[in-house]
Amino acid sequence: MSKIHLLSPRLANQIAAGEVVERPANIVKELVENALDAGARRIEVDAEQGGVKLLRVRDDGCGIEQDDLALALSRHATSKITTLDDLEAVMTMGFRGEALASISSVSRLTLTSRFEQAEQAWQVTAEGRDMQTSVAPAAHPQGTTVEVRDLFFNTPARRKFLRTEKTEFGHLEEHLKKLALSRYDVAFTLRHNNRVIHQLRVADRGIEQERRVATLLSPDFIDHAIHVDTEAAGLQLKGWVALPTYSRSQTDMQYFYVNGRAVRDKLVVHAIRQAYRDVLYNGRHPAFVLYLELDPKLVDVNVHPTKHEVRFRDGRLVHDFLFRTLHQVLGNIRPQDQLAPAS
Ligand code: ADP
Ligand code: MG
Repeated sequence: MSKIHLLSPRLANQIAAGEVVERPANIVKELVENALDAGARRIEVDAEQGGVKLLRVRDDGCGIEQDDLALALSRHATSKITTLDDLEAVMTMGFRGEALASISSVSRLTLTSRFEQAEQAWQVTAEGRDMQTSVAPAAHPQGTTVEVRDLFFNTPARRKFLRTEKTEFGHLEEHLKKLALSRYDVAFTLRHNNRVIHQLRVADRGIEQERRVATLLSPDFIDHAIHVDTEAAGLQLKGWVALPTYSRSQTDMQYFYVNGRAVRDKLVVHAIRQAYRDVLYNGRHPAFVLYLELDPKLVDVNVHPTKHEVRFRDGRLVHDFLFRTLHQVLGNIRPQDQLAPAS
């Protein structure tokens, strides 16, 4: 008898889900990114019990057509790329067509959507991949709501790895913060167990953006931050860096974006550390929210679906630009703001 056989689509999805969905926070990231890709201006996230019992993401984006609803839950189904060339120029946050299929294989998922000018909203449900392909009419304004209940209800081994409600919610909130700091033109609401945790209005003007940063990080951060806005050699760096007087014992206030995507990159971290080297005590970490913009052709952001790595074509150039810009910014500060130990 042959020993090799194909995995059932259901099992294949559950295995793939292991890479995308480790905890509720990953789901929030995927669903909010989908909402952003759909052009949403307002995104509401509801969580219950750390997001394990319920996660609901509602947006006012373009919606999904009735005929596409069931397909949206299938693996490798995406509206975002068609060819390999598209992949090189991809501007959307997602493109693998994997998230909804993966999430629905390990939860009870309901997708409700009303496409732009459609008269009616429609809904599909999937329970642990037993998809009910019949599409039912539903009530919903233009946009999409994805509801994810009972995460890992059918994969108890994974469920065991979930932490306390507080810890899971902490991760979830952190992911949402990262996204909210990347799109000031979008309003975000986060509720946990029916309590409003964050309510962020659209922040077009600089002062409103600083208010959003203050809300999400801390008012102290913005009070001790220098505004950065520098351009050179086709690279642009904007944002805020904290004075050395506002250093941290952890790397918990470090937000860095490349062309709008949150990244965690060794080269970037190294350049920033170098810039702070003379003004920070050993063991202290800088706080910053920085946005690097460069020609998309000079950076590959598609290295890994969840790890926030990037690959710069000219790493040296980026490193030098970051180091020089921040070194200069920090060199201009008054001596009394340097080397003071902080909280
Ligand atoms: P990807 O984002 O990589 O394309 P997903 O599994 O996350 O894959 O989503 C599959 C498809 O479902 C998307 O390509 C998009 O067409 C559609 N979709 C998902 N979420 C939304 C949403 N909030 N609004 C509009 N379309 C959506
Ligand atoms: Mg997606």
